[in-house]
Amino acid sequence: MNVADSERMAGLLRQIGYTLTDDADNADLILFNTCCVRATAEDKVFGQIGRFKALKRLKPSLIIGVTGCMAQKEGANLIKRAPHIDFVLGTGQNSEVARVVQSLELERRHVVDISNVSGEIPSEVFPIRNGQVSTFVPIMYGCNNFCTYCIVPYVRGRERSRQPEEIFSEVKQAVAEGFKEITLLGQNVNSYAGGMTFAELLSNVDKISGVERLRFMTSHPKDLSDELIAAIANGQHICEHIHLPVQYGSDKILRRMNRVYTVEKYLRLVEKIRDAVPNVSLTTDLIVGFPGETDEDFSETLNFLRTVKFDAAFTFIYSKRSGTPAATFENQIDDETKHRRLDELMKVQNEISLAKNSALIDSVVEVLVEGESKTDAEIFTGRTRSNKIVLFNHGSEHAGDLVNVKINQAQTWLLKGDIVNS
Ligand code: SAH
Ligand code: SF4
Repeated sequence: MNVADSERMAGLLRQIGYTLTDDADNADLILFNTCCVRATAEDKVFGQIGRFKALKRLKPSLIIGVTGCMAQKEGANLIKRAPHIDFVLGTGQNSEVARVVQSLELERRHVVDISNVSGEIPSEVFPIRNGQVSTFVPIMYGCNNFCTYCIVPYVRGRERSRQPEEIFSEVKQAVAEGFKEITLLGQNVNSYAGGMTFAELLSNVDKISGVERLRFMTSHPKDLSDELIAAIANGQHICEHIHLPVQYGSDKILRRMNRVYTVEKYLRLVEKIRDAVPNVSLTTDLIVGFPGETDEDFSETLNFLRTVKFDAAFTFIYSKRSGTPAATFENQIDDETKHRRLDELMKVQNEISLAKNSALIDSVVEVLVEGESKTDAEIFTGRTRSNKIVLFNHGSEHAGDLVNVKINQAQTWLLKGDIVNS
């Protein structure tokens, strides 16, 4: 979501004459678009902002701004802590960024505006999109779910859905720019409420000419509908991959997290999805070290992982977020236990991921070419419809091409193979 927001703010700043640079030392404006979901993200931002204090002293014309969730949460405190910041804009104020920068070009002062947490970016923004193959289109902002560990509803405000026409026109615009893969974004896409259901929206985007692949993020298990499962099963370009964060594998902790489903309900949902969409890939998010987690809860979660067999899991250590209910819960878990449990969880999941990937050896998969791999220009990287990374020796292919690759090697997080003629 932050990547998509940054692209939109870059689009607004382009309208007043700014261009992107990789060279921070020569920049006229440095914008930190921040996340505060976990404390580690916040610590990084403070480290980064601190780095530019000396530069600002050397070059007083430099404008430094902070936007995003941490700006929303901290407001003026950020400037108290780092007075070389010129402006702080909350998540509902992103669309103000160009106006604020222009006013600071004329007159220097500190600007802090976090008043409109449930606001949103106007539709006429033309984002400067990263990459050239795959891009994000937000369909809704905010979250109403209030999971007890999570700061998002407080810093992103209530759910607001964009109108379908706006979404369709943005998808067409991205396709016209050459993007092949679209990911529709929302904190919980299943509660999309723009005058049609999310399943209808997805099926309509699937029909837009030039959309080669269609993905979405994120689905809350509490309301992933049969209609959506059918849309995926019947879709043409809708990828057979669902990111379905479970967060934990014991009913006691799920209840305390306010996730409003049980392990059994989740397992039934997985079964339903797998019945309807053969070869579907399922990934998840998990949090270890939630307050009150016992060894018993934890071993239930390991068993749960062994039962579901996710293709991949993103695993996080619980981070106490002040202002959320869980921050005041008793029996907070010590760091050593959290780390030990994380290691064990990752070990179990890594074995499962490797086994799932190994099962693909000798099969031929469709890969959307993304470009050269980071480490070796001779090797190309791309993704399967199931969202697995594939490395392969390339011929005359280009980024954006769809190719068939025969898998000959599997690792925990990626596959390797050779192009075959279709
Ligand atoms: N709306 C999405 C998640 C957004 S946050 C959803 O509900 O799936 C992305 C992930 O960060 C969450 O899935 C959760 O696993 C993790 N997360 C959120 N708050 C956290 C916290 N306080 N500590 C650790 N991980 C957290
Ligand atoms: Fe956070 Fe829960 Fe909303 Fe996801 S659904 S953003 S985890 S409150």
